[in-house]
Parts: sequence; C-alpha cells; structure tokens
Amino acid sequence: MPLRIVHYNDPILRAKGEKVTAFDARLLHLAQDMIETMHEAGGIGLAAQQIGRALQLCVVDLRESDASYNWQLDGARPPVDLFMPMVIANPQVTVTKGAAETLFEEGCLSFPDIRGDVPRPDAIEVTFQDQHGVPHTLKCDGLFGRCIQHEVDHLNGVLFIDRMAKKVRASIDDAVKALAKETKARK
Ligand SMILES: [Zn+2]
Repeated sequence: MPLRIVHYNDPILRAKGEKVTAFDARLLHLAQDMIETMHEAGGIGLAAQQIGRALQLCVVDLRESDASYNWQLDGARPPVDLFMPMVIANPQVTVTKGAAETLFEEGCLSFPDIRGDVPRPDAIEVTFQDQHGVPHTLKCDGLFGRCIQHEVDHLNGVLFIDRMAKKVRASIDDAVKALAKETKARK
C-alpha cells in the first residue's frame, strides 16, 4: 500500500533514524510499502523519514534510470534485476579513497519540483543489512553511489539542500520557503 510522502519542513525529516533490530514480518511489510510508495512517486530512492518513520531504513531502485554506473555486490556483479528494488537497513558509507567529487542536479520526493546541483564523491562502499538481516557490502559509483548517499543522508536527518553550494541554495530559497509554509499549513 503506498504511503503518504512527508514534505519539507516536517520535523521528522531532521530526525536521525534508529537502528533496525527486528527483521520480522512487520519490517518486510514496511519495506514493501516503501517500495510501492517510491515506484508510485517515480523516485529512485526513498528513506523511512520520508514516510514519517525515524529508522535506519531506505529503499533504492535504479532499473528505470538510463544512467550508467558500476557496482560490485559482495564481490560479484549480479544483474541489477536480481537485486533491485533494494532494501537497505543500517547502512554505513565509506568514501572510496581518491574518489573524484562530482556535481549533479538532484531532486527529492520530499521537495516536489525543486532541484539543484549537489557535490558528492563519485565512488563509495556501503555495508548494510537486507530485509532479512543478512549483511552485504556494496561498492558503487555514478548515480548508484549518489542515490545511496542521498538516502543515507536522510537516515541521519541530512537533506540535499544542506549540501548545496551557497549560490545554488540561494537560487531555490523562495521555492524552499514556500514549500515549508505549505507543509505547515497542511498540518
Ligand atoms: Zn530525498
């Protein structure tokens, strides 16, 4: 069942997620609802905070994207269709040594129609648990690495607008303020 997506500046978006400890039927159900919510909204990633839950849990699916990227999952390179959509619990991101910083225009389902360039390192390694609690190590770059970094930021209460250069952030400030006002009025 698709869930309602929380918009900026709902306070839950600033909450650090609690560690996922119970990999049970309820978690599977929540992850499935998050995947449906992400797909319905046309997004490539969704964090628990965005559906109103402060948890270290996000979902990612890049199958509809035509961007090119590299990946290695647990030392192999399985086809994307075999492991996406991904459920990522308790992720820890490490930036790959010597990774270049790239600039790319990001959007966010919690900021409808607002986009802006965000600098991020191009290559990362992330350790996480899947929906069954099984640990994995993923190395990835390009849009895949960027998407994971954006979602893991959410799990720590960090938003893409926080990472923008001052000039870029200033250029969308009116839209961001209007959105915050609209979100407050809806409560
Ligand atoms: Zn986002």
